[in-house]
Formats: sequence, structure tokens, C-alpha cells
Amino acid sequence: MSNNVLVIAEHFKGALDDITFEMLGKAKELAAGYGGEAIALLMGSGVKGLAEQMGAADKVIYVDSPELAEFNPEAYGKTASAIIKAQEPRAVLVGNTSMGMDLAAGLSVDLDMPLVAYASDLSGDAVVSQLYGGKMNVESAVSGPYIAAVLAGAFPADAGKEGGAPSVEEAAAPDLSGLKVKFKQLIEPEGGDVDITAQDILVSVGRGIQNEDNLPMMEELAAKLGGAVSCSRPIVDNKWLSKTRQVGKSGLKVKPKIYLAFGISGAPEHIEGMKDADLIIAVNTDANAPIFDYAHYGTTEDLFDLVPALTEKL
Ligand SMILES: Cc1cc2nc3c(=O)[nH]c(=O)nc-3n(C[C@H](O)[C@H](O)[C@H](O)COP(=O)(O)OP(=O)(O)OC[C@H]3O[C@@H](n4cnc5c(N)ncnc54)[C@H](O)[C@@H]3O)c2cc1C
Repeated sequence: MSNNVLVIAEHFKGALDDITFEMLGKAKELAAGYGGEAIALLMGSGVKGLAEQMGAADKVIYVDSPELAEFNPEAYGKTASAIIKAQEPRAVLVGNTSMGMDLAAGLSVDLDMPLVAYASDLSGDAVVSQLYGGKMNVESAVSGPYIAAVLAGAFPADAGKEGGAPSVEEAAAPDLSGLKVKFKQLIEPEGGDVDITAQDILVSVGRGIQNEDNLPMMEELAAKLGGAVSCSRPIVDNKWLSKTRQVGKSGLKVKPKIYLAFGISGAPEHIEGMKDADLIIAVNTDANAPIFDYAHYGTTEDLFDLVPALTEKL
């Protein structure tokens, strides 16, 4: 085992995802503590250009193969496993993302390395995991080698974007013939809809808006603020908004600068998707609603009084 920390980089449509930089910043810190290096593993096709963007890494190992052009858990798993076996890092960081969750458990079995998922913090000898949608933190002692699946937003991406020029090394792909899993098609979200994960301001609505006819009022407020409307799950279940607007465990994780929650109680499944927003403002007539445990500012005003007044003021 070396003292290095290896990060499995994630990228989509030619750009590195924030989770890659979030993990790289932390990997650099951990590796410094262990007395090793931060290594990024980049898998794909035609991805060499992305390697140079990972300046926080001491070294980037990239594997280029047509079989890795699109994410395929079998191909990526086999490749990551081969590289990790050769590198023998002390810690492997993967995103606790749809891609990372597809890889981490298989790697853990294949490499006989314990996996700690839902990691929200990492020190040299312990991993803190968030369980039950963030209601409970569990600290696991780790000595290495180990794998940690890191929650998106757990660490700042900026620390992983700094740095100089990493050394870039190409590694050969293992035998990827006869894969049982084939990539067929990328199904994009419904055309024309906004990407709520990329918004700075979200006006989020919950069951408190009562019925679909009250949505235009919320759309108007969002437009005045230069943001977009997102929602809790009942709004999607009622088919008032599309699934692409849902925040939470079974929806999207968002991290806007401002998250305004109107008539949302703050169930753990909703909180999981928005608690990392920079500023949370809750409007809920029930002073005991759990959303107020997470909000930086809050009011128990009736949203039907507040929203028109606020829109007019704006
Ligand atoms: C496996 C699983 C996954 C789930 N995934 C998600 C998910 O991804 N996202 C998600 O959101 N939920 C999810 N849920 C559902 C979640 O448990 C809650 O049921 C849901 O978040 C509640 O939505 P809500 O806050 O809009 O509604 P409610 O809990 O009904 O809250 C409505 C709130 O509006 C307030 N209110 C009412 N009238 C007004 C008014 N006039 N002015 C101001 N406030 C008012 C009330 O006081 C109340 O607090 C999931 C559940 C499960 C079991």
C-alpha cells in the first residue's frame, strides 16, 4: 500500500463535474497528511485535454478507449479495478453519485477494500457518513486501504481547481472485450425545461400552495428574482410540475445561492436535496415545521399574503 489518495474523476459531455474538483481538493489535503500524492484517474475517450484541468492533482492517470466513451459500469469498473490494483493507493475517493454508486460497491468487493458511503467528511483516520438522509452522522475509523463514496457538495470545489500542472500519464485499458453491459442511449430530460441544479436562485414550492392554479404566482416571483421554480415531491406526484423540478432524495440535489421554500414542511427526503444551499429562506405557517431547523431566515407569514406583496415590491 502506498500513501497516495486516488480520485475517480467524473465528467459528462466533455466537462469535468464539480464532484471531481470537490474530491480533488480533499484528496490533496489527505495525501499531504499521509505523506503521499493525490492521483486522479480519468477514464473516457478523447479525454486527455481534461487531465490538464486537474491541477490540484499531483498526477493524472488517464485511460483512453472507445469502450469508455460513455459511462458503462462494467467497463469503468474493470478499468478502475486494474489501475487501483497497480497503484495500491491508501484511499480511493469516488462520488456518492449515480456513477460513483454504480462503481463503488463492485470495486470494494473486487479489491477487498472496505467502502464507507455517504461520506460528508474525511480526516486521515476517520470518515464521517450521513445516514438516514442526514439525520445521523456516523464516524468510521479507517486505516487504509479503503474506499469512500463522497457526497456531492461535502467539500468546496474551488480547492480542487487550484494548483499547477499535474504530471499526466496514459495507462492502457484492460481487456474490455465481451462486455455484458452495453451503452445504448442517453435519454435527456424533457426538452426546453430548466436545469434546477444550475440556478443561483430557486423559488421552491410545496403542498402549501394548495393547487395548480397558484403556480403562476410563484413563476412570476421567480422571474422577478431571476430564478426558477423548483418543488417538493407532492407537486410532481400531482403532475403540477415535471420531475425535472423536484428537489430531494428521489429528485435532484441543488446548491443555489438562495433557496426560498414556500409551503414546504422540510421532510428529510426534501432536506437531503437542498440543505447545502448558501442561503435558505423558509415561509411556512407552522412555526414547528422542520424546515426552520435548516433555514437561515424564516417567517410564519401565510404565503398567499407574502408572495403577491413581495412580487409587487420587487
Ligand atoms: C423514498 C422516498 C423518497 C422521497 N423523495 C422525496 C424527494 O425527493 N423530494 C421531496 O420533496 N419529498 C420526497 N419524499 C416525500 C417526503 O417524505 C415528504 O412527503 C414531502 O417532502 C412533503 O412535501 P411538502 O413539504 O411539500 O408537503 P407537506 O409535508 O404537506 O408540507 C406542506 C407545508 O406547507 C405549509 N403550509 C400550508 N399552507 C401554507 C401557507 N398558506 N403558507 C405557508 N405555508 C403553508 C404547512 O405548514 C406544511 O408544513 C420522499 C418520500 C419517500 C418515502
